[in-house]
Amino acid sequence: MAKRGVIIVAGGSGSRMNSTLPKQFLMLGGMPVVARTINTFSEALPGAEIVLVLPKEHIALWKNLAARFDVAVHKCVEGGKERFDSVKSGLEALSSEVELVAIHDGVRALATKKLVLRAMLATEEKDAVIPVVDVVDSYRRVEGDSSVIVPRKELRIVQTPQCFRRSLITKAYEQPFDPAFTDDASVVEAIGGKITLVEGERSNIKLTTPEDLDWAEWQLSRC
Ligand code: C5P
Repeated sequence: MAKRGVIIVAGGSGSRMNSTLPKQFLMLGGMPVVARTINTFSEALPGAEIVLVLPKEHIALWKNLAARFDVAVHKCVEGGKERFDSVKSGLEALSSEVELVAIHDGVRALATKKLVLRAMLATEEKDAVIPVVDVVDSYRRVEGDSSVIVPRKELRIVQTPQCFRRSLITKAYEQPFDPAFTDDASVVEAIGGKITLVEGERSNIKLTTPEDLDWAEWQLSRC
């Protein structure tokens, strides 16, 4: 079986949570958000190398916090200015044996083991796999003073974990940063990579506001 690596990016500042503690360290179901994320990947992909990317100023705080919980083995590295830089730093921290890489937003703590496995297994066949869900709202594109409806059948919401063959994602991250890169798939596509879609999960949201965290607690209490 191909050796797997996991990069969990939590290098952002996350100011919308109105909390002095970074959002990825807030408690969810009795453990820090990012600890839950790490443990999901460790259980879904036994033997995978896990790298957590944090801002430099959060690393000591995290090490202190992690020591008080049952968190799966992981390496901790320093992130960068943009998410792009943080992913790059995570890629550099993986050992040379890793062949398939999952990249996940640390605050998507409700991603299930089933989703992680679905995306990773698809990457054995396809080189770049991302989870998506259908949209339920209506969307309009603003054009100057007016707007036009965008057929929602054509749209998907993009999530993580996004999984890639290591050689492809490493090559993609060798190009210079472009503000149009909003996720890893966009970076891979810019060097001609073809993206395969798999089914995501509606509950796999980025925990961004205090309300999201309340909702996530409720979700966990139902499982
Ligand atoms: O900012 P955005 O919501 O797109 O961030 C998505 C993920 O990327 C978050 O988990 C955030 O912590 C991470 N990130 C990072 N380094 C940055 C900016 C964002 O690891 N410089």
